[in-house]
Amino acid sequence: MPQAEPVVVVEDLKVEFPVHGGLLGGRRIGTVKAVNGINFEVNRGETLGVVGESGCGKTTTGLAILRMVDVTSGRIFFDGKDITSLKRAAMRPLRRKMQMVYQDPFGALDPRMRVKDIIGEPLIAHGVSGSRQAYRERVSELMEMVGLDVIMGERYPHEFSGGQRQRIGIARALALRPTLLVCDEPVSALDVSIQAQIINLLEALQDELGLTYVFIAHDLSVVQHISDRVMVMYLGKVVEIASRRDLYRDPKHPYTQALLSAVPMPSPDAEVEREVVLLEGEVPSPLNPPGGCPFHPRCSMARPDCRESMPVLRTQDADHKVACHLY
Ligand code: SF4
Repeated sequence: MPQAEPVVVVEDLKVEFPVHGGLLGGRRIGTVKAVNGINFEVNRGETLGVVGESGCGKTTTGLAILRMVDVTSGRIFFDGKDITSLKRAAMRPLRRKMQMVYQDPFGALDPRMRVKDIIGEPLIAHGVSGSRQAYRERVSELMEMVGLDVIMGERYPHEFSGGQRQRIGIARALALRPTLLVCDEPVSALDVSIQAQIINLLEALQDELGLTYVFIAHDLSVVQHISDRVMVMYLGKVVEIASRRDLYRDPKHPYTQALLSAVPMPSPDAEVEREVVLLEGEVPSPLNPPGGCPFHPRCSMARPDCRESMPVLRTQDADHKVACHLY
């Protein structure tokens, strides 16, 4: 069971990227506010689902927690330590404790490496591989943990299916015995039946190893099973955060309601009654976000004041917060 002991605390986090243009692309023409002042915690042993359309800042938030992008302002604590401004060398021992699982686990890796070397590479990079035998045993142990036959370690990534590749990515992420995994759309590219297998694997590993997860996805159906709490983001802001039960039973923000209306229902009767709320238009450019509530151009419930002032995230019930003028 998750305990209310924060492993990650994020305070007023902002991550901005300069945008360059002009004749030779050398002139700064604007700033993208990818993450625009967000606050949240992740408790030990829990899974926080982070959901939103592309451009909402969810991946940048995950990268910021791991200090893989520069933070513009705000603070990030990991295990009680302020890591916001730690230099590379000071981050290195902490880096072992926090790892990322990617949508494409081999995107940045040499396709000519054997799978056993891909899984073991972080041990070598961090100088903790030990003796040859200890290294081999650890790689075998990791493969077994994710349900892969040890003999498969001799093969190359292209010889594996999408689900198997993700198992390899998870084994590699676990090599350094982390306590926190940021999973960035780890099942988005997989078929639904394979998605369920990977999510079940992640849940089993969480139970066995006491892991804490930040699980990023672009729709609410993917995170429903695995999350203890869910955070919904829109244009760099948190618009709603609640326990899974509260968010799926009683979504408050119009954006969450629209996202949830697209989630298929488990029973055919409920499926017939499901009313899909269509989201009009695209997410506005984060380079030029609308004033007031950033969701107002797409919100069917917008009022005049929604164009003028930005709603702040307020507590509704116990652990349920929403940023909307209707509340
Ligand atoms: Fe819609 Fe207004 Fe609420 Fe924004 S503040 S979500 S525009 S009702």
